[in-house]
Amino acid sequence: MPHSHHSHSGQFCKHASGRLEEVVLEAIRQGFEVYGLTEHMPRYRTEDLYPEEAKMAVEELATQFDAFIDEAHRLKKRYEMKIALLIGLETEYIADSDLDALDVLLKRLGPRVEYVVGSVHHVNGFPIDFDYDTFRKSVESVSRDTSTEEQAQERFLSVYLDAQYRLFQRFHPEIVGHFDLCRLYTPDLVFSDYPSVAEKVERNVRYTIEYGALFEVNAAAFRKKWDTPYPGRDIVEVILKHGGRFALSDDSHGPHAVGLNYHRLAEYLRAVGVSELWYLQRCETPNSAGRNVRPVRVDGEWWKHTFWNGRVAQ
Ligand SMILES: [Zn+2]
Ligand SMILES: [Zn+2]
Repeated sequence: MPHSHHSHSGQFCKHASGRLEEVVLEAIRQGFEVYGLTEHMPRYRTEDLYPEEAKMAVEELATQFDAFIDEAHRLKKRYEMKIALLIGLETEYIADSDLDALDVLLKRLGPRVEYVVGSVHHVNGFPIDFDYDTFRKSVESVSRDTSTEEQAQERFLSVYLDAQYRLFQRFHPEIVGHFDLCRLYTPDLVFSDYPSVAEKVERNVRYTIEYGALFEVNAAAFRKKWDTPYPGRDIVEVILKHGGRFALSDDSHGPHAVGLNYHRLAEYLRAVGVSELWYLQRCETPNSAGRNVRPVRVDGEWWKHTFWNGRVAQ
């Protein structure tokens, strides 16, 4: 299962490192067969720039994204005999205007965006994965009228899951990006402790399964000091209960993170009983979003693939 459906590079993302071609060469070196290049879609409002982008004009993000698409397609062609590169984008949903802008972007780029990783990184306009203080600001901004921390968390999680649901409904992303990023700073949080939240989790999971999405198992959580990938065990159980399908992602932010912690990813999947893995492949017939990719099941027992030799107990 030398697959990954989600990556970034320092060439086109200020909080990543390395050139996109270096990421691709590292993926080839490690024996990846399918590797997804999925830079963040542009953000469109000056207030949504991150500190490391302070010197940029917001319009540069759009120019940078187009340059990413061009370079990714150049690399796809150049290395097509060595690796199947898939070219996509990772969504942002900060304000409703982002979804309108994404619509315009996808229509303009057409088949040059082969698939979409559906991710939410903001709640009520605040980044939830930047640092702890900003995460707390986000929680407080949606929960001023609540009296307990539990109610505040419940409100925060609900807003996150509702945003995720709207994103899924409108764009049918082929890959569900880090489903439970909302608990990055509260990894011990269990969704079923909040019944109204647990219902929204079920709703989102069922919806994405109905239109055919794959849930990424994202190794980046290990870099963020989790002892599991995204999503955590309780979410994996919900997904499995409804017959959902999983795909692998390293969510690398540079060549150094290509395939990073994949052995831990594999051990986790074995421990939680994920016996099938899926990946995306180009196809002739458009999917429910009108894009030409479809999920394909990895043949046989995925953990017996030679890629895992020495990386996971057989
Ligand atoms: Zn992300
Ligand atoms: Zn990402």
